[in-house]
Amino acid sequence: MTHTPGIVITGASGRMGQMLIKTVLDSDKAQLVGAIERTGHEWVGQDVGVAMGGAPIGVLVSDDPLEAFAKAQAVIDFTAPKATLEFAALAAQARCVHVIGTTGMSDDEIAALEPASRHAAIVRAGNMSLGVNLLVQLTKKVAAALDEDFDIEVIEAHHHHKVDAPSGTALMLGEAAAEGRGVDLNDVSDRGRDGITGARKCGDIGFTAIRGGDIVGEHDVLFAAAGERIVLRHMATDRAIFARGALKAALWGQGKAPGAYDMLDVLGLSE
Ligand code: NAP
Repeated sequence: MTHTPGIVITGASGRMGQMLIKTVLDSDKAQLVGAIERTGHEWVGQDVGVAMGGAPIGVLVSDDPLEAFAKAQAVIDFTAPKATLEFAALAAQARCVHVIGTTGMSDDEIAALEPASRHAAIVRAGNMSLGVNLLVQLTKKVAAALDEDFDIEVIEAHHHHKVDAPSGTALMLGEAAAEGRGVDLNDVSDRGRDGITGARKCGDIGFTAIRGGDIVGEHDVLFAAAGERIVLRHMATDRAIFARGALKAALWGQGKAPGAYDMLDVLGLSE
């Protein structure tokens, strides 16, 4: 008998939450067994299909994550850092794979996931798309091949609702560039230039964030030297790529030992 993993989606009413629900419902490799919203949210108690403006699907939106996680094999979570930390503890308790797409987590918040990762597999990535994860590897390789005559800048653009900057993806790309160069991003990161900043420091990795309209997500890694420029670019036009990647991660995580993983592990791109 084949076993189809049961999936719970947190932040069900969110942009990514709704996309994730559609993706799981469209898949024959997984089944939707729960949808979570916070207590007091108007969706709680409603059939999630109806809440999304369609036909009923027999799954009610709940504000009791532990009860939902206990019936599932994986939780896919694109919410907010504080909520993600709470969900991590509960997913660990239920021994569910926890796929985390939430961005904007501080170093302390990421470190606070460690106890949960001793009990369950956690797959966390600032970007779940195949294209961006390939771009991460390319960025590392190009940065390793070029010296500091090439200034590295990460330029990202997102919709006007986005609350964190630089994007999780921009930080992944900055980390990859720093790793390629053999430096620590914390020592060379240059963010939020404004006013008389002085000349650009050789070896810095700069970040620029553009916010506007309904841009799903665009990332350039620019390597600029005297007389030439290389630009590595990824453009997302549909949130479905992140949801498909997250579902892939949830399926990949089944049977994996407890620990912290990322999309490079899922996609077999780790070196
Ligand atoms: P969104 O539309 O604002 O949705 C966020 C959802 O999380 C909402 O349903 C919200 O509920 C819920 N939520 C927030 N705080 C919560 C809390 N404390 N407890 C319970 N639920 C809570 O945002 P989005 O565009 O879907 O993005 C969500 C996250 O995913 C962001 O961090 C974004 O950067 C990230 N993201 C990651 C990727 C990737 O590939 N890794 C791709 C796209 C987006 P309320 O409506 O009640 O606040």
